[in-house]
Amino acid sequence: MRAIEKIENKDFNLTDVEIIELLSIDAYTNDFYRLLSVSNELTRNKFKNKGYVFTQVGINAAPCSVNCRFCSLGADHYSVDSKWEKDVDTLIKELKVLNEYHFDDFFLMTTADYSIDKYLEVSKQIKPLLKENQKFIANIGDFDIEIAKRLKSVGFTGVYHINRLREGQDTLVTTEQREKSIASAQAVGLEIYYCIEPIGPEHSYEELLEEIKRARDLKISVMAVMRRTPVVGTPLNELGQITAIEMTKIAAVTNIVVNPSRSMNVHEPTQMSLLAGVNQLYAELGANPRDCNSETEKSRGFTPLKAWEMLREAGYNK
Ligand code: SF4
Repeated sequence: MRAIEKIENKDFNLTDVEIIELLSIDAYTNDFYRLLSVSNELTRNKFKNKGYVFTQVGINAAPCSVNCRFCSLGADHYSVDSKWEKDVDTLIKELKVLNEYHFDDFFLMTTADYSIDKYLEVSKQIKPLLKENQKFIANIGDFDIEIAKRLKSVGFTGVYHINRLREGQDTLVTTEQREKSIASAQAVGLEIYYCIEPIGPEHSYEELLEEIKRARDLKISVMAVMRRTPVVGTPLNELGQITAIEMTKIAAVTNIVVNPSRSMNVHEPTQMSLLAGVNQLYAELGANPRDCNSETEKSRGFTPLKAWEMLREAGYNK
């Protein structure tokens, strides 16, 4: 039986060969729409049209020693318009304004070199401002179990931490380091927010398969896929970008294989991708690895309102 027929029969227990078969579907054929239909139905049945908007603030714009070859903040090719750190008063003001709008989980992101002591101090002051049901997510460099415990003690509920595509080649971090951080987070009960990223035209379906399986094995409940944004000034800029239709297909396959229990995201958002069972989007403020404007809310970043508008167009509600 072909993989597309197997998933139409609601059998999502796919072999590596079958996952590659789904990823290899020609996006201009009927099978592409069959794939989208299965992924969409899976999401609608599971989540009953409930959507989510998460909001992330990048709290510092500074050269980062991890030097990811796709990131505007990498030290050797720093491409952001300025350097700064938001102080806690600024963050509190921003969060008060943000909280006039509805959004779900709240993320604080730093570059990998940002002082963990300072991060925990800032986070401790931010936490009481969050609404009762807002989850609090750390997006920082690699960490050990002691730091994981401290993240938990100041009120974080989860971490965005992943093994990026071509880790150690396009970044200065190894897969082993990523795995240790993820294990530390899990050991103290922090939820892992995961993503296959940053997907570029140079990545083979076999590479994507490895990362999709990693997410499946981790039993991720909040899943995502992200295409690489070519940022002028970064080493990988010249490799360009996959199309939105290709990203939509990868989102569908990832959703079916990982089968997250809470939400599926695509980043940066495209309306088309919401046909593939995507029910969660991000709003972004401050520094952003995909932007040269250090205030991404004035450039690439969505506001919570814009993200909700896109979700509503696809029939997802708060
Ligand atoms: S993606 Fe993160 S770790 Fe990599 S250079 Fe940018 S800020 Fe540093």
